[in-house]
Amino acid sequence: MGHDVIVVGLGGMGSASAHRLAAGGLRVLGLDRHPPAHDQGSSHGGSRITRQAYFEDPAYVPLLRRAGELWDAVAEESGRHLVDWSGGVMVGRPDGPTISGSLASARYWGLEHELLDAGQIHTRYPTLRPSDADVALVERRAGSVNPEESVRAHLDLAGRYGADLRHGETVLDWTATDAGVRVRTERATHEADRLVLAPGAWAPDLLADLGVPMQIERYVQFWFAPSDPAAFAGHPVYIWEGPGGRQFYGFGLGGDGTVKVAFFRGGDVCDPASIDRTVHPGEVEEIRAFAAPHVPGAVAEFVRAKTCMYTCTPDHHFVIAPHPAHPAVTVACGFSGHGFKFVPVVGEIVADLVTAGSTSHPIDLFDPARFSARSTPAHSTHFGEHVA
Ligand SMILES: Cc1cc2nc3c(=O)[nH]c(=O)nc-3n(C[C@H](O)[C@H](O)[C@H](O)COP(=O)(O)OP(=O)(O)OC[C@H]3O[C@@H](n4cnc5c(N)ncnc54)[C@H](O)[C@@H]3O)c2cc1C
Repeated sequence: MGHDVIVVGLGGMGSASAHRLAAGGLRVLGLDRHPPAHDQGSSHGGSRITRQAYFEDPAYVPLLRRAGELWDAVAEESGRHLVDWSGGVMVGRPDGPTISGSLASARYWGLEHELLDAGQIHTRYPTLRPSDADVALVERRAGSVNPEESVRAHLDLAGRYGADLRHGETVLDWTATDAGVRVRTERATHEADRLVLAPGAWAPDLLADLGVPMQIERYVQFWFAPSDPAAFAGHPVYIWEGPGGRQFYGFGLGGDGTVKVAFFRGGDVCDPASIDRTVHPGEVEEIRAFAAPHVPGAVAEFVRAKTCMYTCTPDHHFVIAPHPAHPAVTVACGFSGHGFKFVPVVGEIVADLVTAGSTSHPIDLFDPARFSARSTPAHSTHFGEHVA
């Protein structure tokens, strides 16, 4: 049977891409080496922060607005619970990147937010212990997305629109010619007009010729039983910029009575084939010691932990574009540890690129050509200068 497009990787990004492509009427073949919603890549652990006043760059905000609409629409259409809009609290020094960046995005785009001083933070959120110099940016359009449910929802919908989804089939390599694309797996050779590559942490294997340096990093998600579970019920998600600028983040109470915390950056370089998936006692002590002064009730009793991988580009911005050397191939990778909240809009962008060759979404920031020596920067980040 002929397929219009093959999607390699059915994790966060590939599942959403398969859904949008199939919904658009294309005959989709989806391939993944692992089972649906597995825990060997980057899209597992029950929760992912979503937020809108984006400290990384204001250019992401229009995509976040669209993603917010799509999260609710996909939840509705699939009948799965995908997002808890619990609100979000960013804590740090006023001049640190977390606060100054969040504020720049909020002001540039006129996003609803509040700025609290240390006393106000502690009054409103007794679980949080800011130091006197800390402030918080609070927003309501933030919360927690469930990554496994998102993958299942998008796979369900893709299947409903006729996609042929095959798990447990590893792609070995691919070629693209004027006549179409050919994907060789350990079982078969598949042909189609177009190819989407969304391989997460395996991107360096399948995209060696993309011209984007990607570093795979190992992170640990930690679950603790809080001292007072009721205090964390319905708690907003938070990102805390602590001593030395290091960020950790956490979530409210999950269904199993635990709360999750993790470090945002500073993970060890790894490889998906050889990553150490054991979490060591020293790592539990490190996060506990870092989080305890700020959110003491959250890290009362260690329950469990799980590793996960980031696929980092040098500037931590994504890569979403036609492959520079192969117009029939669309690439979505390098999500650098902050991609999940964008999943449904990435699916929409990929479908635009596959079907029309372009998209009306702003994606200049994600151009792989930014890493090639001859390129001139397509995007400058001077939004701050336009703030009225
Ligand atoms: C600990 C942790 C916390 C995070 N927190 C947040 C957060 O709070 N907010 C946020 O927005 N983002 C967060 N992220 C980032 C976000 O989860 C990722 O950006 C996102 O999950 C990446 O999705 P993906 O589709 O690129 O990768 P994946 O979901 O890993 O999908 C890639 C898929 O490709 C398949 N594959 C790869 N190679 C092959 C092959 N050769 N053949 C067949 N199949 C193949 C894999 O099996 C996999 O299923 C976090 C990530 C981690 C690890």
